[in-house]
Amino acid sequence: MPSMKKDNNKEKRYFRSLDHLIATDEYKEKTAREFPEGASEMNNDWSRRNFMTLMGASVAMAGIAGCRRPKEKIVPYVKPPEEVIPGVARQYASTMPLGTSAYGIVVESHEGRPTKIEGNKMHPSSNGSSNALIQASILGLYDPDRSQKVLEKGKEKEFADFLTFWAEKYNVYRANNGDGLAVVSESFSSPTMARLKKAFEKVYPKAVWATYEPVSDANIFDGLKIATNKDVRPIYDYSKAKVILSIDSDFTQTESENINANAGFAAGRDLDDEHSEMNRLYMVESAFSSTGASADHRLVLKQKEIDRFVHALADKLGVVSANINLPDASQAWLDPLVEDLLANSGKSLVVAGRRMSAQIHALVCGINDVLKNNGNTVTYTNLTDVSVSHISDLQVLTEKMKTGSVSTLLVLGGDPIYNAPSDLKFASAMKKVETVIHTGLYNDATGKHATWHIPASHYLEYWSDARSADGTVSVVQPLIAPLFDGKSSVEMLNLINSGELLSGHDIVQETWKPMISGEFEKGWKKVLHDGLLANSSLNSESISFKLKNINSPGSGDEDGYEIIFAASPAVYDGRFTNNGWLQELPDTVTRVAWDNVAQVSKKTADKLGFNSEDLITLSVNDAEVQMPLWIVPGTADDVVVVALGYGRKGIGRVAEDAGHDVYPLRTASTMDFASGVTIAGTGRTYEIANVQDHWSMEERPIIREATKDYYEGHPEFAPHAVHHPPLESMWDEFKYDKGYQWGMAIDLTTCTGCNACTIACQSENNIPIIGKEEVRNGREMHWIRVDRYFAGDVDDSSSVEMVHQPVACHHCELAPCEQVCPVAATVHDDEGLNTMVYNRCIGTRYCSNNCPYKVRRFNFFNFTKETPEIVKMAMNPDVTVRSRGVMEKCTYCVQRISKAKIEAKKDDRRIKDGEVVAACQQACPANAIAFGDLMDKESDVVRIKQRNRNYALLGELNVRPRTTYLAKIRNKNKNMPGAQESQTEHHG
Ligand code: SF4
Repeated sequence: MPSMKKDNNKEKRYFRSLDHLIATDEYKEKTAREFPEGASEMNNDWSRRNFMTLMGASVAMAGIAGCRRPKEKIVPYVKPPEEVIPGVARQYASTMPLGTSAYGIVVESHEGRPTKIEGNKMHPSSNGSSNALIQASILGLYDPDRSQKVLEKGKEKEFADFLTFWAEKYNVYRANNGDGLAVVSESFSSPTMARLKKAFEKVYPKAVWATYEPVSDANIFDGLKIATNKDVRPIYDYSKAKVILSIDSDFTQTESENINANAGFAAGRDLDDEHSEMNRLYMVESAFSSTGASADHRLVLKQKEIDRFVHALADKLGVVSANINLPDASQAWLDPLVEDLLANSGKSLVVAGRRMSAQIHALVCGINDVLKNNGNTVTYTNLTDVSVSHISDLQVLTEKMKTGSVSTLLVLGGDPIYNAPSDLKFASAMKKVETVIHTGLYNDATGKHATWHIPASHYLEYWSDARSADGTVSVVQPLIAPLFDGKSSVEMLNLINSGELLSGHDIVQETWKPMISGEFEKGWKKVLHDGLLANSSLNSESISFKLKNINSPGSGDEDGYEIIFAASPAVYDGRFTNNGWLQELPDTVTRVAWDNVAQVSKKTADKLGFNSEDLITLSVNDAEVQMPLWIVPGTADDVVVVALGYGRKGIGRVAEDAGHDVYPLRTASTMDFASGVTIAGTGRTYEIANVQDHWSMEERPIIREATKDYYEGHPEFAPHAVHHPPLESMWDEFKYDKGYQWGMAIDLTTCTGCNACTIACQSENNIPIIGKEEVRNGREMHWIRVDRYFAGDVDDSSSVEMVHQPVACHHCELAPCEQVCPVAATVHDDEGLNTMVYNRCIGTRYCSNNCPYKVRRFNFFNFTKETPEIVKMAMNPDVTVRSRGVMEKCTYCVQRISKAKIEAKKDDRRIKDGEVVAACQQACPANAIAFGDLMDKESDVVRIKQRNRNYALLGELNVRPRTTYLAKIRNKNKNMPGAQESQTEHHG
């Protein structure tokens, strides 16, 4: 029997949930089963009706008694397009705009239908990687619930009718200089939109323009304006920073530019060996975030206390003078933190999240100035072609609407009735407007109350452009003609300005003609090929920090509960809420799918007398919302964290019953957090689909972790963490020593648990969505799951740490699944792949039972039957769609391996390192995943597997997994509180 090495170290206990920590009977019963209760039985009250409702949208269809193999018709092209070779995908560069950010992408297209998105290696905001939102946006394109009809007062019309309507209005507003005309637009960073906005202001000087976005970087930009008197935005270079202090900034997941941040941060933690330099992250936050999970030190405070902490830090560094008495725990942090920051002057970085006030951002700029980080780890570029959300503008507009001085309102994207601050009473103000024209992807709350609703096109259908944070201009080019004849913001705004409907292509070219030097057509072609205009980044703006007045923070010791409004990592501000992939994606921290929850600490839950899944009422700002409570160890005490973007009714079948709308609790002055929340019970409970206890690997030593100091003294701690007798095989072993031998390594030090890999895998491998009920039953289908573990004292939030571990099929050389399959449906190939022969599988599930990693997924129903035609368009034709009764799991993206083999064979050569990139690996913004041929001794995967942190998860079972892990290392500062107790190795 293997045993875990004890040394003289204090063992850290890792747990997935509180039930796991205290090993309740319920937990033991749950995890003793191969599948969670309900997964293997047909005795649950499975509702076909609910399921069908979901499936009709972005979810695949299930049927208990469906036919096993659907029939399909194959029809040849009558006139094949010359440039399209059936079966050979083409790639096009484009850009995904999101708020004031722009992410360069490369979209794979099969015979004219886009199927997969990757990052554009040439683009400065993505550098070849992506995130979960980008990956899932392809499904949004094919959402059958998208708005498809032009409506006037709810009645179907043609767009030509709208053109006739506008022609009349146009003359009126041209004549009166736009008196009574108003626009509320989403944020943008786009040369064409900026040009059109300027034209609008010129054509209609009396008109009103408000930019509003419920989640925005306005505080950051406003803070920099206070500090520097310039309209600039920060560009953080995490790769240069040796010491990072994050003030409530979830820079690896929900903040803008998270792909770059993830990559830069990971680059500073990519340890060759125990002597490698490693950055250090200090995190001060209220809610546990993905970034907080990677922190070396984490201080958990209420939002108001964070304010006071930043003032005290600024005071200590001489940025401002503030007389702040901090609580002991914060005070104990301050001196060693300041010492570390000063010791790394010019090589440190202080960042604050978008929830922090403009004042705090101004102070942070000053702190970076004193630390000589400005110009080194943080640079600034002009806010060029950017329209930033400002609540004050929306307030002015709403007041005008209420007084009847707005006669025509154009809502250019967005859904302000759903997400505007509740005290603005946008819906009732809108009733006073004679004509409201709404363009949106969905006929949402605003669309339903508008006079005209015009379907908007998806970003993969329209022409536009965008400026990334460093100023690089990139093109948004359509991959497909608008599926529902939607119109883009560019086309609509141009129509409003000129009365003419021009194609987006012509409007965008108009902007680009002066930007491209030399022959335009040639330059334009290059832009379309690259996705961006080379050398168009803006020069860094030199700033001088001049802080005049800064408000002193409140006392910070207010009683009562604080509520924090957080952007959802899955549905963001609600714009992705009808996306089934994102709804089914278990949250990085809570592991909840299909819902938002009121996250509280264990202490707070105990104080309130509630438990997870208790339905509670949150009241603040004269509004109340009911939602389930969920305990998240490591959350600040007396704080409730709620994610925005859920409970969006009437836009689509996926969104309809998913989560709770918390926007009513938010007012113009409490956009980020509010104090004085009351929390009451309802006496009811609410069922949550939480996967934190699913796929448990019992109490085996799964996570291996140490401090940097311990690692330096014990470089081989990870592979030696478990003692076991010599490993002998029961069979004659096959020698995997010829041809290609595929393997993977995942670095737990750089992985931030961002979930991009899960969605990338889902997109690449046609993984179905199964709905909340089935997730609750433990039937989730993700081929790569990102397990989340806590460690620490649940009653002391600052002591709680979080570790993520992506787990997919390990392609064991001595695979236990293969040994029990009665029909040899799962077998090994001679390149080390554990393969599934789908049409041999008879669904015994013995393989899953015998898999120590719990990575096999069973199609309990025909999850893909009756998939709407339009959703089928998102599917990858290189991957078989599985039917009911079949087991499936990670294939190491065998289709990508085959493609590379064909290319290599054409040239009569071996596949080169880097030619086969697994979907999870390609998406990963942290470069935490390495994959390749183990026979190629120069390959990246071999280099990484040779690192002394490499360990085989459950290697003591002698299953010889091809996927291995690199142990997690945290870089503790010995002088920080609690650091001494951590100077050990941990596994659990
Ligand atoms: S391995 Fe997956 S979860 Fe971890 S950082 Fe990469 S994409 Fe995110």
